[in-house]
Amino acid sequence: MWKFKYTKTLALLLLFAVVTHASAASSGQCRTNVQDNFCWPGQTCMPTHQDGLDFAASLDGDIITPTDERYPIVTIMINTRVTMFPYVVVMAESVDDVIKTVKFANKFNVRLTIRSSGHDYIGRSTGDGTFQLNLEKMKGLEVKLNSTRNADGELKAQSGNSWIRVYTELNKVNRTIIGGSAHTVSMGGYTLGGGHSPIGRKFGLAIDNLLEVEMVLANGSLVYATDTETVYVDHDTGARRISQNTDIFWALRGGGGATFGIVTAFTYKIHKDSRMVKLECISLIKDESGKDVGRAFLKSFNDLLSTTLAPEWGGYQMLEQAKGHTTGGVVLLLNHFGEWGSPSFHTIDPFLNKYRAQCQLTNKTDFLDYEKDTKDALYTNSYVFNTLMQPGGFTDAFYEFFYDMLLGNHSGLPIQMGCIGTLIGGHMNDVQPDVTAMNPGMRTGVMSLTCWGAWDPEKAGLKPEEDYIAQLADRLLTYGQGTYFNEPSAHLPNWKTDYWGGHYDRLLSIKRQWDPDHVFTCLHCVGSDTTRPFAQTPQQSPILGTVVENCG
Ligand SMILES: Cc1cc2nc3c(=O)[nH]c(=O)nc-3n(C[C@H](O)[C@H](O)[C@H](O)COP(=O)(O)OP(=O)(O)OC[C@H]3O[C@@H](n4cnc5c(N)ncnc54)[C@H](O)[C@@H]3O)c2cc1C
Repeated sequence: MWKFKYTKTLALLLLFAVVTHASAASSGQCRTNVQDNFCWPGQTCMPTHQDGLDFAASLDGDIITPTDERYPIVTIMINTRVTMFPYVVVMAESVDDVIKTVKFANKFNVRLTIRSSGHDYIGRSTGDGTFQLNLEKMKGLEVKLNSTRNADGELKAQSGNSWIRVYTELNKVNRTIIGGSAHTVSMGGYTLGGGHSPIGRKFGLAIDNLLEVEMVLANGSLVYATDTETVYVDHDTGARRISQNTDIFWALRGGGGATFGIVTAFTYKIHKDSRMVKLECISLIKDESGKDVGRAFLKSFNDLLSTTLAPEWGGYQMLEQAKGHTTGGVVLLLNHFGEWGSPSFHTIDPFLNKYRAQCQLTNKTDFLDYEKDTKDALYTNSYVFNTLMQPGGFTDAFYEFFYDMLLGNHSGLPIQMGCIGTLIGGHMNDVQPDVTAMNPGMRTGVMSLTCWGAWDPEKAGLKPEEDYIAQLADRLLTYGQGTYFNEPSAHLPNWKTDYWGGHYDRLLSIKRQWDPDHVFTCLHCVGSDTTRPFAQTPQQSPILGTVVENCG
């Protein structure tokens, strides 16, 4: 998605002013709320220098320490507000490297963080003083056009691939896939949290297209999970156990990253590509005279979205405050997966008949032709919050709140506000709410509405700004049903129900079975508020890297 992507039209017509910044800004805080007893830098339990050297020598990839010139590049987060400083970064190049890393981390009881692309808005893929496993070099791709599991074929992809790489490869064989709209997002956290796409109303969420997951467990063993069986391969003995219990596959579809294990590869259904139409429509929120022109525009589209818009239509609704003004803009960036003029195309007519003069239609040869216009403006300093809007949720009270949030003076704080609504619904809602671990609100909703406040990075993390936005986040939640795990706010008092509705208890029970020592943890992830059972293992004094404060 989104805030960070724009078309030329958007840039010209709206005074979108996203505060961006390309340098790290650590909060210096611990980002997990687990009461941990990990071994932290500065403690005698840390691996010795020789342990580190032996470990590095055993890898296909290599390790990066804070003094390495690559360190700032591999550790900066897309949301720089949550950039933190791992003790060491392991650049894995094979499944074997992943297994060795998790076993090493376990042996010394150091906290492991897992990073595919570093897009997580609240920093779940990083942590001060952690051993960070970076998967970005694991880019294996395998396309199978003859598949017994899906008529149009399947794709096996390692977790370090970016979506644009996948789209480009699949385009060569006239196929497409459900993936992120931002080109630099990777499959890891994106898929495990659910994964919506510009063509998701047509083909469902990423997890609805998932055929198989290959995952490394905390003990180094491998798991191959599908919706019919789970195969466990013991790392020490090579023994295989096959079970018809598919709980882990259920949990991996929406239960979130960094929780059950480290996914090394995902296998997805792929789909025959199609000609597409891109539709961009634009309106001011208020015109020069202060007249509210945006509300009718929004209502007209949202009413259609909540009723008769065909699943072939997908895309985004973007709103942003114009800097220094009491107005702003609304942009609809839509796509139709199929020919201009087909019956599904015409379901947009009730809106288009009114706003044709404010819209531009463009033919696209295929999904890649549509997607190539998307640009990721990397690095932002923002505070994100989200709710899953349901049909009927776009009430007068909602629009009042929305306008106030976007156009208000934010109690005088230097905050720039914006929102992007990803269109959901369509065929995503064909999947019954309990078939995956996903928040049921995603199966009944019509829009995943994500808003953000951004401010000058020099003032990053200042409490008044965060407190102000936390209040808005609370209010936004009252208009929808829960929150999308992948568009999270660090401020979420009821995170278990907001992320997973009634699925949390089952998720926690699965977590306990598959990660009994609670090796994997992150902020507001399943089980992250429970105590870890580990005891510290005293070792020689640490030599690797720099010493940071113990968060334990
Ligand atoms: C610019 C931008 C655009 C986005 N666009 C979309 C979009 O179109 N659709 C959408 O649904 N979401 C979108 N998102 C949200 C995105 O899905 C989340 O940020 C997601 O967490 C990214 O996953 P990642 O693996 O790339 O990121 P990371 O930050 O590397 O990881 C995110 C989480 O997953 C864990 N993780 C990563 N890889 C693995 C793995 N292999 N095994 C186990 N755990 C793992 C990490 O530890 C962390 O907890 C976007 C975010 C940004 C910043």
